[in-house]
Amino acid sequence: MFLNLSARLAERRDADLYRRRPLLETPQGVNVLVDGQSLLAFCNNDYLGLANHPQVIEAFVQGARQWGVGGGASHLVVGHSTPHHQLEEALAAFTGRPRALLMSSGYMANLGAVTALVGQGDTVLEDRLNHASLLDAGLLSGARFSRYLHNDAASLQSRLGKAVGDTLVVTDGVFSMDGDLAELPAICAAARQHGAWVMVDDAHGFGCLGEHGGGIVEHFGLNTEDVPVLIGTLGKAFGTAGAFVAGSEELIESLIQFARPYIYTTSQPPAVACATLRSLELLREEVWRRVHLARLIVRFREGVSAIGLELMNSPTPIQPIVVGSSARALALSAALRERGILVTAIRPPTVPRGTARLRVTLCAAHTEADVDRLLETLQLAVASLPESHD
Ligand SMILES: *Cc1c(COP(=O)(O)O)cnc(C)c1O
Repeated sequence: MFLNLSARLAERRDADLYRRRPLLETPQGVNVLVDGQSLLAFCNNDYLGLANHPQVIEAFVQGARQWGVGGGASHLVVGHSTPHHQLEEALAAFTGRPRALLMSSGYMANLGAVTALVGQGDTVLEDRLNHASLLDAGLLSGARFSRYLHNDAASLQSRLGKAVGDTLVVTDGVFSMDGDLAELPAICAAARQHGAWVMVDDAHGFGCLGEHGGGIVEHFGLNTEDVPVLIGTLGKAFGTAGAFVAGSEELIESLIQFARPYIYTTSQPPAVACATLRSLELLREEVWRRVHLARLIVRFREGVSAIGLELMNSPTPIQPIVVGSSARALALSAALRERGILVTAIRPPTVPRGTARLRVTLCAAHTEADVDRLLETLQLAVASLPESHD
């Protein structure tokens, strides 16, 4: 396959798997201009509508004035500045854990945490539907790597029985393409029985779940012993950029020593940390955003059932409509777009074969009228497609 790029690209095109990047010509939000077209969008992860919030922007601008633009160095050299440190302390307090470590992205947080904790002779067990960054982290770690059936504690148990060395059980908190919650109480109990550690990547739970937006661990009332390694990302409900790992003093010190994606990269711009400090306050305090979002979720789910489309078991803003083939997902996305609505099609390998979908996401910036318009348009768009032969 080396350098046979044109053949690989053609193959991807022929399988309806070719990716194109919609060009966003306005700030992130629900009413956007994409490729010259005005659209009502239901596909970003800015669940609380903070990515373009005036107070977050102001904190970013002031942060840039005071701290400049670039991080300038890695954290261990001279790139760890006061705003990074303050944000770490605020995130530790927010998660109720002794320490938090700020990372440059969720992808890197996952690679860093898993590879620092386990290696050759150890075991990593992951949910089959985990985010790609977690699967990549498991492979990169060099540990024995296996995937248990989705959210299936019995399947996890049987793998735990065969595990060697130190064992890390890794799961999404909210599954990114399905929107369902990890069955953490059962998963944590199984792990504890076998002396394994649990790592939860709650990229989509923070800000959305729990009374204070503390995510899936707040939702289930789990502590640091249940989930020793907790990952959050800042590019979703927080509306900014970066990620964090929260846990014990020893965990964070170990990551500072051993997590290569932490050590060998430039710190994020300090002004981004200033912006996140502000968005964290909004995320905690403006409870109306979560309340409104919950109402939109109910409204959407009731409407979709009324149209006769199938929903997934999701209590979160991620509300996928599975259509099957990639061609059909693309056709439905295009039919919506013709009618002024943007929902991108999600296809393999992001999701398993035969489960291509429209990943609808709701956001606190949507109105009830926006959701109604989506529902009406969905009905028309589905009716406009040829019969499915999948
Ligand atoms: C988006 C996402 C990531 C990656 O986070 P970035 O900060 O965007 O790199 C990791 N895990 C999950 C579950 C995600 O959805």
